Amino acid sequence: MGLLALGTPLDWENAKQRADQVRTLGIQQLLEIWNAYRGNERDILLWGDEIEYLVIAFDEETKNACLSLRQAEILEALAADGKLRAAGGGVPELQDVLQEKPEPLPTFHPEFGRFMLEATPGAPFSLAWKDLLSVEPNMKLRRTIAKQHMAANEVPITIPSFPRLGTKGVFTNPYYPPTGPQSRSQFIPDECINPHIRFPTLAANIRSRRGSKVAINMPVFYDDNTPKPFNDPTIDYDRHLYPEDDDVRNGAAKEGHIYMDAMGFGMGCCCLQITLQAKNITEARTLYDQLCPLGPIMLALTACAPVFKGFLADVDVRWNVISGAVDDRTEEERGIKPLENNRWKIPKSRYDSVSAYLSEDPRLRPEYNDLDLVVDEDIKKRLIDNGMDERLSTHFAHLFIRDPIVIFQETLEEAPEGKADHFENLQSTNWQHMRFKPPPPGGNIGWRVEFRSMEIQMTDFENAAFSIFIVLLTRVMLSYGLNFYIPISKVDENMTTAHYRNAVLANKFWFRKNLFPPAPISNRNSPSGSRAPTRPVTPVAVEDEYGLMTIDEIMNGTGEFVGLIPLINSYLDTVNVDVVTRCELAGYLALVSKRASGELQTGATWIREFVKAHPEYKKDSVVNERINYDLMKAVEKLGCDGYLEGLGEKLLGRRDE
Ligand code: ADP
Ligand code: MG
Ligand code: MG
Ligand code: MG
Repeated sequence: MGLLALGTPLDWENAKQRADQVRTLGIQQLLEIWNAYRGNERDILLWGDEIEYLVIAFDEETKNACLSLRQAEILEALAADGKLRAAGGGVPELQDVLQEKPEPLPTFHPEFGRFMLEATPGAPFSLAWKDLLSVEPNMKLRRTIAKQHMAANEVPITIPSFPRLGTKGVFTNPYYPPTGPQSRSQFIPDECINPHIRFPTLAANIRSRRGSKVAINMPVFYDDNTPKPFNDPTIDYDRHLYPEDDDVRNGAAKEGHIYMDAMGFGMGCCCLQITLQAKNITEARTLYDQLCPLGPIMLALTACAPVFKGFLADVDVRWNVISGAVDDRTEEERGIKPLENNRWKIPKSRYDSVSAYLSEDPRLRPEYNDLDLVVDEDIKKRLIDNGMDERLSTHFAHLFIRDPIVIFQETLEEAPEGKADHFENLQSTNWQHMRFKPPPPGGNIGWRVEFRSMEIQMTDFENAAFSIFIVLLTRVMLSYGLNFYIPISKVDENMTTAHYRNAVLANKFWFRKNLFPPAPISNRNSPSGSRAPTRPVTPVAVEDEYGLMTIDEIMNGTGEFVGLIPLINSYLDTVNVDVVTRCELAGYLALVSKRASGELQTGATWIREFVKAHPEYKKDSVVNERINYDLMKAVEKLGCDGYLEGLGEKLLGRRDE
């Protein structure tokens, strides 16, 4: 959501004085939305994806691949292209094709990293088959248009984390030394941050609120020649530029880990997000809950981030890097010091897995919400007193335990009515793996949920496949009334598991054993036309409802467990879908299925193999400039061609199979 209002941002000392005021106004705005839209009924499912790109600048002379910091210029070029359509999206070869297309062109958005772009379809997709099949071409179009607006040596690539972000060498174009006052990082210059004042303020205020720099430690992958124990050799223990330089002298960096100290390491990561609009608030709440347990599963299945700061890591995904990168909790809130100035001990970062289900679904047993949830009781009471039910009130009262990080002075002087800026201030800086999105005031957009855990994939075929999988799965969930609930603490455990190297094949995840609603009693004597009553069921103990499964079992099924791909296929058998569409969809589903079974590799495994096979790799976990250059070239080719002879097969299989 564009929150790029211009204005005067408050530094942390001032912002914290106004935090309660922003929360109060935010809840007022939420209640206004709630009252205006709670009764909304719309049957139209709309959905859309978000793709995030890194902009790579190649230096062919030094054979180095860097992050280009030209986001602003590229976005300007894209925006200035008012006649984008007439000009074929700036791509002459596409001119004829695009002029015939009725739908708006994709849109591009800024992101935290000054080396990033985000692109969404120009309008959300519907459920129509042709829309589902237009996702991949649309993603390709976005890539082509983006590329067209870059310099000759620049390319957009889709990989979750830039392997050499924060290394000692040259990793940005142009080069800047890592000495900025906002992040105070030893590794990343502030010039890597989108210069729009919101972003540097976000970085600085998170650091100030926390009382130190963020400290991200990801386990290193020990190869044959990696020094053991590994002590991150890139740390400068002698730097005395900022008080925060003391962090490493006070133990911020852990042995055996790759140490990162700035928001940019996390918010510079790219992901694949899917937003779905439900027909009403009840359905949106169902979707939120039912998709929630899928978060870690899809994270492991889309794993594509095995390298950080120039080292092979012992994890395959980005998630905890982002979580740590925006962890603004004070020492009191983290439980390191007794509570004195803060209100609560808070178990998680503001970027973390979901901590509570929020639906009023009778299938939601109280035992599933088994985490000690910190809520602001005053806010909860205010919501309940104003007619919001307990569960949803709890959800928002939980999000609102956080402080607003960036407050623009001017917004406090404006009337809050008819807007959502204060609400969004808290809402959109609670980065959980699902987001419940209320309608923006004044528009005709409905209640939406966002699925946020997936890693961006290197090709649009993969990005489309995972998007389509999620969309089809929601159809199956709703049509068959499937039940995916497991205790939310198990979802947390799965999130940890999803990080392990090759978790997709090597680890088991908690999952519900029976997804189906209780069967109705077949009563032959009942008068025809009457609905069969539901069998009165003796509730199974919660612990017996779920078990540990491999992702292969979850996706492809076992003798006992049906499997999500077979479920989607049987759903497709029951709906009216033409042969060609069915065949295309089967291609996408096959990718998901084969990733789960191990027949195809995850991006993470593919990248690991690429690094390990590189002639310059010394089995010491180091991904040097040349390895990175060749890797980025390969990733570029994969992204553009979707296939790379001799390299892409293990990742993608053959499309024409
Ligand atoms: P955010 O960054 O806040 O998650 P974006 O606006 O970047 O949101 O992306 C939201 C996605 O939702 C886009 O793919 C967009 O096409 C899609 N979208 C827009 N309107 C709707 C809608 N009414 N229902 C579902 N999806 C929508
Ligand atoms: Mg977005
Ligand atoms: Mg984004
Ligand atoms: Mg999003």
